[in-house]
Amino acid sequence: MTCCLLGIEAHAQVKAADHVLITNEIPGTVTIERGNDDTWLVTQQKLPELGPEGNRPRDYAQAPTWVRIENAGEAKTITLAVKWIDTGYGTFRKSGYLKHDDAWTVITGEMGTDRTTYRLEVPKGTSWCGPVPWYGVEDATRWMERIASSHAEVRVRALGKTKEGREIRCVTIGDEKRPNVLVVGREHGGESASSFAVEAVVEHLLSKEFPRELREAFCFHVVPMANPDGVANGWKFPQPGPVEQFDLHYSGMTAPDPTCVVMREETLRLRPVAYVNYHSYLFPMPQVIYYQKEAGTRILDALIGDKPGEGDSWYLKRLLPGGDSTLYHCHRAFGSLVVLFELPWAGRKVESLRAQGVATFRAAMEALVKKNKEAAKP
Ligand SMILES: [Zn+2]
Repeated sequence: MTCCLLGIEAHAQVKAADHVLITNEIPGTVTIERGNDDTWLVTQQKLPELGPEGNRPRDYAQAPTWVRIENAGEAKTITLAVKWIDTGYGTFRKSGYLKHDDAWTVITGEMGTDRTTYRLEVPKGTSWCGPVPWYGVEDATRWMERIASSHAEVRVRALGKTKEGREIRCVTIGDEKRPNVLVVGREHGGESASSFAVEAVVEHLLSKEFPRELREAFCFHVVPMANPDGVANGWKFPQPGPVEQFDLHYSGMTAPDPTCVVMREETLRLRPVAYVNYHSYLFPMPQVIYYQKEAGTRILDALIGDKPGEGDSWYLKRLLPGGDSTLYHCHRAFGSLVVLFELPWAGRKVESLRAQGVATFRAAMEALVKKNKEAAKP
């Protein structure tokens, strides 16, 4: 009798030590090895198709990592190390994020020579974890279905299909006879911040806080995920390969890749009066990138407010004319107000990042209104 009870107890102990299971959420991006009881090593994987690394520096800088944690037992502290492919911006690779019950927790790790090691408490049930909050293809689909069903004025349009057959979708708000404002996120697959920012922009557009006169003056076309193949596969571009053929951003006007063609044709069709493009990088200071001096300084003015020390510091960069991006084409051919925002996670809460999405969009709209007023002067 006693023996049998002991047997059950020993079995229960093995179960308790083994009740955490960690699996990869973005196929092919990492391998996961379990060390001692509560230690895991998550190693980012290279793409062999990319060829010599020297040709394309920093393509792996924002290679995504997102794992699912199933904890069948009570809350437990574990150690999870992420071994990076690219250790650039190492001092800015300390923060990480845990998602549980739709709530986000920012965690802080230790950056070693080639990895960041996090100690974190995983709650009972299912959680997700990674160096930056992930926003996948399904997140975009769910969100678009939700806003389309709750707001009669929202139209979700399919612009076309990617090489792997995914739809590129655009949220359109307003009368299409009005001048078009184009907002695009996620040209680069790993830059999840841009999708969070663009989501917040749409929710702001639909809220009472967004001025009615602005809402009625333009038609807004918002693409939260321009590159769903890149997002699904953990690639920066729609397909792995050279910038000239596959980069939706720098080669948007010339690249033959189907995703690039769809986004190019829609941009040319819309001839936007303003084009707001969202990206993300690892440097912790958010950046405003523009072609036209007045537009750039007006946007910065709107962002920094009147008092020094309020909110984030901003980094301003003026782009030299040139290149094959659709942004430059719109600036040159249509005289569009063009601005690109780099919004870094750098340990910011999801809500702060979303607020930054709204603030940057509003700043761009203010600059557009001023530009139009000036153009209307006799
Ligand atoms: Zn980018």
